[in-house]
Amino acid sequence: MPASLPDAHTRLAVLLGDPVAHSLSPLLHNTAFRAAGLNALYLACRVPPDALADAITGLRALPIVGANVTIPHKRAVLPHLDRLTPEAEAIGAVNTITRLEDGILRGDNTDAAGFLSGLDLEAMRGAPALVFGSGGAARAVVYALLTTLHPASLTIAARTPSTGEALADAFSRFDSHTALRVVPLAEAGAALRRSRLVVNATPLGMHPHEGSTVWPLAEDFGPDHTVYDLVYTSTDTRLLREAASRGAQTVDGLEMLVGQAAAAFEQWMGQPMPVDAVRTALRRHLNPSPLVGVSDDAHLPTSSP
Ligand code: NAP
Repeated sequence: MPASLPDAHTRLAVLLGDPVAHSLSPLLHNTAFRAAGLNALYLACRVPPDALADAITGLRALPIVGANVTIPHKRAVLPHLDRLTPEAEAIGAVNTITRLEDGILRGDNTDAAGFLSGLDLEAMRGAPALVFGSGGAARAVVYALLTTLHPASLTIAARTPSTGEALADAFSRFDSHTALRVVPLAEAGAALRRSRLVVNATPLGMHPHEGSTVWPLAEDFGPDHTVYDLVYTSTDTRLLREAASRGAQTVDGLEMLVGQAAAAFEQWMGQPMPVDAVRTALRRHLNPSPLVGVSDDAHLPTSSP
């Protein structure tokens, strides 16, 4: 069992972001440390934009094993690090920093791996795909799809088509099958009906948009669809409910959240994260009902990242 209180041997990991008050990462990683029997602690640190450089200098000075980086620092942190993984370099954003043995701070992006961990990769290989959104999460998803699943077509449906076009341009070098297309959000219907994988990478469905969905035409969904909502503050978004009611397979955003954290944990601790304990703690936290362990886990993918 881990020490019940931190002591002089406790390993420390931190989250750097602003705001961080509602982050699930402290619950996630502290649950993982405890379940793995590790004497380690994860703290969320609010770091305003003008303090980011000092915070990274602090990481260098203190014996911290690693850090997560979240809004608004995921892109701004790049020039402060010593090394980037190919994923971080390609996506242009860092969500995980690891201190290597020689003190080097390496930036990685584990969102792409986290996204893929929620999917049956064999079933989805080559499947036509549609991604709603063209922000930071969409960049990780598009990179993951192009480099791992090689979709026959990959449509980005963007509220602001110019950001969609910029995303498509940035990833064209990975698009060996010329799969990428950009459409305005309102014109996504035809691509959605043709796709087998549909991903929501917009905040629609999370606070303050809980009752909203990025695609209100539920009749466009059917049994051939896998609908993946990256929103993780609810496991039962309107998008997932409506898609499921038309026979679609659904994947909620906790799968990506757990998957990206598992990749970070393994880099920091050198061992796999106990993902089942983490999933259970997060689902209890989001659905604090006595029956949650029975009803909510029943429809979940059981694959470990
Ligand atoms: P972001 O960089 O701010 O991008 C948001 C995207 O959604 C932009 O393309 C934006 O379009 C679009 N959008 C925003 N409001 C919209 C609306 N009302 N209608 C249509 N499109 C809208 O945010 P992000 O970091 O990519 O995050 C997107 C979602 O993914 C959030 O819900 C976030 O919590 C989730 N996420 C989940 C995980 C996970 O581990 N599960 C990881 C990362 C992110 P414009 O360009 O027009 O503004």
